[in-house]
Amino acid sequence: MDTPKEKSGWSDRELEASIDAYLKMLDRELNGQTFKKSIENQLLRDGPLSKRSASSVEYRMQNISAVLEQMSLPRISGYMPAKNIGAGVAQRIRKVLASKVMPSAGEFAPTSDQRTLISRASNLQKKGLKVEPLGNPNPQQVSTTTTSYVRDPKIRAWVAELAKGVCEGCGQKAPFEVDGLPFLEVHHVKHLAQQGSDSITNAVALCPNCHRRCHLASDKEAFTLSLYGKVSRLVAE
Ligand SMILES: [Zn+2]
Ligand SMILES: [Zn+2]
Repeated sequence: MDTPKEKSGWSDRELEASIDAYLKMLDRELNGQTFKKSIENQLLRDGPLSKRSASSVEYRMQNISAVLEQMSLPRISGYMPAKNIGAGVAQRIRKVLASKVMPSAGEFAPTSDQRTLISRASNLQKKGLKVEPLGNPNPQQVSTTTTSYVRDPKIRAWVAELAKGVCEGCGQKAPFEVDGLPFLEVHHVKHLAQQGSDSITNAVALCPNCHRRCHLASDKEAFTLSLYGKVSRLVAE
């Protein structure tokens, strides 16, 4: 017996109704949408779980969380896994879950790609994230291959010297020092990945803010174009 005051065991139909309701809520949570546990609880007791109490339904939801956690699957953050789940019930829940399409975060799924992460998070912010996310204590590791370019330190040093510790994008002083020198990032206006050259006519010294702006900002094209106006040594490639 998995709840102390349960008078009779749960039928398959009852279990399945709980799981369907749970997965519906989980789908909403994974996609940044809100739901009311109490309303879903009431709906179940108005329907297939009419023999059960609110706390009994709540406990069943916690059982489902426990099984999902055992299976390393996402669960609803608001239903803490019930610790004392009977083996029989766990087995039955697992069987029903196996027959269901598990909700996924879809367009909001975790990702190892920085740009995708930012754009998914932006979409979530715009949509309105209403449920505090559960997080992941052990984020999965991935190894990726990246293409890097061999760059000449003389170009970097020269451009940094020309800038004299002042960002060529915004005119602000470098925010901190590295190796005892004002730190500016040297950015290739035509990116190396787009066959831009590693030369002083294609490189600018930028504060980290302006550098990020060049790579990520909504106005990155316009901002990049403005650099040619601000820095006379630049030659468009
Ligand atoms: Zn700047
Ligand atoms: Zn850059």
